Amino acid sequence: MALTGIQIFKLLPKTNCKECGVPTCLAFAMNLASGKAELDSCPYVSDEAREQLAEASAPPIRPVPVGKGVRAATTGGETVQYRHEKTFFNQTLLAAQVGSDIAADELAGKLKQWNALQYERVGLNLRPELVAVKDVSGDAAAFAATAKAVAETSEFNVILMSEDAEVMKAGVEACGFKRPLIYGATADNLDAFGALAKDNDLPVGVKADSVEALAELSDKLTGMGLKDLVLDPGSREAKAAFADQVAIRRAALKDGNRSVGFPTIAFPCEMADNLDMETLLAAMFVAKYGGIVVMSDFAGENLFPLLLERLNIFTDPQRPMTVTEGIYEINNPDENSPVLVTTNFALTYFIVSGEVEGSKVPTWLLIKDSEGLSVLTAWAAGKFAGDDVGMFVKKCGIMDKVKNQELIIPGYAAAIAGDVEEELPGWTITVGPREAAHLPAFLRSK
Ligand code: SF4
Repeated sequence: MALTGIQIFKLLPKTNCKECGVPTCLAFAMNLASGKAELDSCPYVSDEAREQLAEASAPPIRPVPVGKGVRAATTGGETVQYRHEKTFFNQTLLAAQVGSDIAADELAGKLKQWNALQYERVGLNLRPELVAVKDVSGDAAAFAATAKAVAETSEFNVILMSEDAEVMKAGVEACGFKRPLIYGATADNLDAFGALAKDNDLPVGVKADSVEALAELSDKLTGMGLKDLVLDPGSREAKAAFADQVAIRRAALKDGNRSVGFPTIAFPCEMADNLDMETLLAAMFVAKYGGIVVMSDFAGENLFPLLLERLNIFTDPQRPMTVTEGIYEINNPDENSPVLVTTNFALTYFIVSGEVEGSKVPTWLLIKDSEGLSVLTAWAAGKFAGDDVGMFVKKCGIMDKVKNQELIIPGYAAAIAGDVEEELPGWTITVGPREAAHLPAFLRSK
């Protein structure tokens, strides 16, 4: 069980030195108990106390690493019910399912097609992580062969799906090196699956037909010394599945119920008979609160919106995405190329740079630190003021690279033109378009 604030307080140094960022050890203890602080923030906790506090300071939902290699990822580790309370940390992992009887060439074709589904957005590579291999016939050799092919011939990590311990054992022998999730521990096979997971140090998916029954099974597995569990409450109808996800998250976070303090797995592939409906269900689980979501297939038009939704849900709402301040060369500019300046909000950068690149006009793009705010917001907040922009242009080094002394500022920041001009004597300040979409025509007319 998690410790209360008072129990934690008794283990702290009680010097009220404030180094953890709050005025007293008691306040720190209360924050730690509610998941709002991390134990490492206090440098004076004794080793003995640290051990005792480890449980209290651990995330109420255990982070569970799945897989190896470039698509290895962690699910769980969440500390809040609602994203706006702090942030969600580990994004929902997306899986597509294949049957163990799939023909080798069909599997190779699917893996190739799924591997191609990668998208560059705001400097990130968006792609799915997992392939779920489902035992459809009880044939251990076929299950192992399919699992091996996925593990050895693709970057994807693997979920092994079978409730037959012998079949699962064959699958683990074939692809254990990729740290697969073994899914299908139930009341009937719990001991065998627990032993298999423990012997091979693998995460194990546990399934029951209610949240209460799931908690009992998870207690038995943790009693066997297993820590990395993934929970399936068994519901396959949208309303019940949604309610179970919320109940598990709430019980773990609000009630401190460690029996359900693990990430979940959801199966849209078993809840709908077409990929579009599966995608809608998957979108629901990405928002609330699926740790892993298994689809029957990946298609670009279905996967891409899910990846974008996931990107948005799992970014920190209190920290805008930014790019580094500096000079960005687009289309090989020279000393006569136009010079643009804008803010360091990642979306602003990627939209502006994309339009400039598409224009094919060689351009210098100056990115000024605006604490991640977009142009209009930054200007309104005083983070993109004329004198600041002028100072930045002087200091960033662009003057050594160009003869051209014209600076193009964003249309939404037209009001700063006079102040920039004052700061940059001899330069012409031109107000560019408000919308990035109008940049190509604007640049070509220069
Ligand atoms: Fe207390 Fe540690 Fe915080 Fe200092 S840093 S006030 S000792 S909890």
